[in-house]
This record gives sequence, C-alpha cells and structure tokens, in this order.
Amino acid sequence: YQIPFVANEEVKSYVPGSPEREELQATYKKMYKQVIEVPQYIGSKVVKSGNKKEIRPPHDHQHIVGYYHEGTQDDVKAAIDAALKARRDWANMSWENRAAIFLKAADLLAGPYRARINAATMIGQSKNVFQAEIDAACELIDFLRFNVEFMTQIYADQPISSEGVWNRVEYRPLEGFTFAITPFNFTAISANLPASMALMGNVVVWKPSDKQIYSAEIIMEVFREAGLPDGVINMVLTDGAATSKTVMEHPDFAGLHFTGSTSVFKSLWKQIGNNIDIYKTYPRIVGETGGKDFVIAHKSSDAQEVATALVRGAFEYQGQKCSAASRAYVSKSLWPKVEKEMKKALDSITMGSPEDFSNFVTAVIDANSFKKCKGYIDRAKKSKNAEIVFGGKCDDKVGYFVEPTVILASDPHYESMVEEIFGPILTIYVFEDKNWEKTLELVDTTSDYALTGAIFAKDRYVLNQGIKALENAAGNFYINDKPTGAVVGQQPFGGARASGTNDKAGSAMNLMRWVSVRTVKETF
Ligand code: GLU
Repeated sequence: YQIPFVANEEVKSYVPGSPEREELQATYKKMYKQVIEVPQYIGSKVVKSGNKKEIRPPHDHQHIVGYYHEGTQDDVKAAIDAALKARRDWANMSWENRAAIFLKAADLLAGPYRARINAATMIGQSKNVFQAEIDAACELIDFLRFNVEFMTQIYADQPISSEGVWNRVEYRPLEGFTFAITPFNFTAISANLPASMALMGNVVVWKPSDKQIYSAEIIMEVFREAGLPDGVINMVLTDGAATSKTVMEHPDFAGLHFTGSTSVFKSLWKQIGNNIDIYKTYPRIVGETGGKDFVIAHKSSDAQEVATALVRGAFEYQGQKCSAASRAYVSKSLWPKVEKEMKKALDSITMGSPEDFSNFVTAVIDANSFKKCKGYIDRAKKSKNAEIVFGGKCDDKVGYFVEPTVILASDPHYESMVEEIFGPILTIYVFEDKNWEKTLELVDTTSDYALTGAIFAKDRYVLNQGIKALENAAGNFYINDKPTGAVVGQQPFGGARASGTNDKAGSAMNLMRWVSVRTVKETF
C-alpha cells in the first residue's frame, strides 16, 4: 500500500510582515464585508429553500455576514435517498480513488483554501488566528491525510492462509447510510466526522451545527472541488432533533458519528434502542460528548508550568473545547506562586475581535452561552464558598464577551467545580499538601465525565500514584502538560464514562467502526 508520506501539517506563525498574515488579514476583511448564501447539498442538487437564516459573528452580533437556507424534513428524506442512490458506486470505488479525493482535499486546504477556511472559522466561530490555524487548517488537513494512512494499515491487516487455502478479510462499508452530527467548536471535527466515514466507503447525511455554517460551506466546496461524487456526503441545514428522528426511523440507518452534548447523545442512543427492530443491521454508535477536565498539581511541580497550563488549557478558544481545563486542584504550598504567575499571564492577555490578531480571547459562541457563563459568575460573586480571583466581567453589547475568569472554591463540590460550563471559567480548589491521595480520589469521583486530565509533579513516586489512581478518569491523560491540543497521529483523542464511546478520533480505532468485515475463505 503505497501512499504519499504523511507528516503533521506545519503550523504557520502569522508573525507581522509574513505573507500568510497579509493574505489572511485581506481575506478576513473581504469576507467580513460580503454577504454569503449557504445552500444545502443534496445529491447533485444545491438546494436553496428560500427560508433564510442569518449568520452573525459572535464577536459582532449586529453584523450579518451571510444567510443559510434552512431545510425541512423532506430535504432530510431527499438526502437519505441521494446517499442510498450513491452507495453502490461509492462502495465499489477502489480505495486509491477514495484516498485520492481526500488527499486532494487536504492539499486544497493546505494551499488555496487555507486563508478562507481560517477566516471563516475566525468570523463564524470567533476563533483567534492561532486557534483557527491549529484547527481549520492543521488538524483538518492532518485528519484527512492520516486517515488515508490508517485506512491502508487496516486493509493490510489480514489473517493467515495455508497451502490450498486463502483466507482474507474484506473491510466493507456499513450496509446502509451513516449520519454525522457535528459541533461548532472545531472545524476539523465537523469535516472529519463525515469524511472519515466516507473514506471507508460509506455514504453520509451530515448535519453541521447551525453555529458553524460558514466554515461548513467551505468544507463542502473543498470536497466537491476535490472530486467527491454527488450523494456521498449530503449536507442538510435542518432542525437537529427533527432530523435525528427522521434519520433514525429509517431502516437503512447504519451508523451515527456524533460530537456534541452528553444529553443529546444519550437521547439519540435511546431513540436508536427504541427503533432497533426496524433496522437491517445494528447501527454503529460513536460519540464524543462532554467533559469536566481536571488539572491536579502536586507540591513538587513547577509553579510556572502549572500556571501556563491552566491559562492556556482553560482559556484558549474561550474554554469552548471539550478538552478545556475547567477544574483544578492545586497543593497549598504551591498555590501562592501559581496564583501570581497566572495573574501575570492573564494581565497580559487582551480580549476583542479576532480581526485584531493580537487578541488571545474573543467572544463566546452565542447569547445562550453568554447567559450561562454570566450566571456562574454572578452566583460565584454571591456565594460564601467561592471567590473570584481574576476576571468576572461580561459585556454583550457588541459581541458575547466574557472575561477569562478564575474562581477559587472552598468547597470541592461547588457547582462550577462539578458542572460543565463550556466557557472561559476555571475553578480552583486548593488542597492541603498532606491530602494528595485523598485529592486524587476526589478528582476521580467528582465528575461523571472522563475526557481529558492533567497531572503535574516532579516526584516519580507521586506521579505513579496519580497515573494509577486516575486511570479511568480521562481518555486523554497529560503528564506535566495542559489537557488540550491533541495532535492527529500523536495523541488519538476521545474519552470514556459520560464523555463518549472512546473510539479515538485520528486513529485506526475510529475508522474500524465504519467497516463491516466479510471474512472469505477460498480453497484451491
Ligand atoms: N481534540 C481537541 C483537543 O485536544 C478537543 C476536541 C473537542 O473539543 O471536542 O483539544
């Protein structure tokens, strides 16, 4: 299996004066002034329903950058039909041809589309330039290229044969159509969920988040330009709950690839369970859901390293990563230094529009998120179990801006230590140095989630204890590093418990879920 050499896409620096900075700034400005129209893509049709909904940047919510054409359940049914119509030819297309389409898509994103996909992610999802680059450019390109590599590894895994007998396994796509539901917070995830299933020969109905439509449109453009045949990935812009119901009531529904909230995922799983008798095949269910990701720092750790991990882990992309650090446990003797270093770093951070490349923090995604964050902050201001030690200001006049906020909780079960917020709020509990082991237990038992987590210590004995005690508390576990920023091909990503099915995005383990294997024994 000869495919081009795969390496991680290099992160561009966008330093002042660099050509990539100038190109991206110009593209951003141009796109900000335009008013785009996003259709649905169903089979060979570009569907404009006429029911137009506004697309507004979260950091400038009175400004309109486009409209999308909202679809109906008839469009979802048409998308299912288009997918099933495309299925046979796509499943029979050789793996090299499928691979070529996605490798070309990666090259288009790395080159001619890079500035546009980054600008769309900055405008539509309010990512700063660095967060857009590592997501919409690098991680997305990596997913596409590495998945091709993983696919060839899977196909190469064959059983043993003997003289007169040839045993083989065929990695066939699932029998039916698949369904991708994708989140607003990563352009890379939104493209990877449908693309990974399609690469393995499946046909897909894709429902992106209504808060990620600008970059979703560019993803469809790229896939089409790369040669993806009509009907293989059908993008519908419809009501989420109604769409899931339509899809899951279809006998040919064969797989769900989901990233989003735990409650929605559980309700989808229940619906699939209720409909189990109508399906031709048991649907595959893969989901990455919520997190309440921890950082625990032992007194032997480096305070500066802990402070950097907390600031970056909690506040990059306004804390809107499933992997974001949102509860921290810091040893008492270490805390004064960590606090000082954190304040120093946070004082130097600026908040504003992503158009200004020097802003680290921009807006949270929408009015609901703003309200939710403000609620936690307002309650912390009044609580006797909490104290705001940094930030706390919220202002939604122009955009949904929430200052990076650090809450110190005297109760380790204080609400913001336990509940997922999905915003720029970090809650810290300072524990007595002698209570290290008890605190490890607290970390493990406080949350139902198990997505990411980080442990800081220099003492190996202590690290060993933590690694063991927290073995089920995080699907992605970091030692002396922040809990965010998994890289495709380096840290396969996913969590267990209430955080998902742990089918590691960016690995062969995930792609294996999208094939149905036929074992063939041939005798001569
Ligand atoms: N893979 C991302 C990271 O490691 C998080 C993905 C998510 O938020 O769903 O930071």
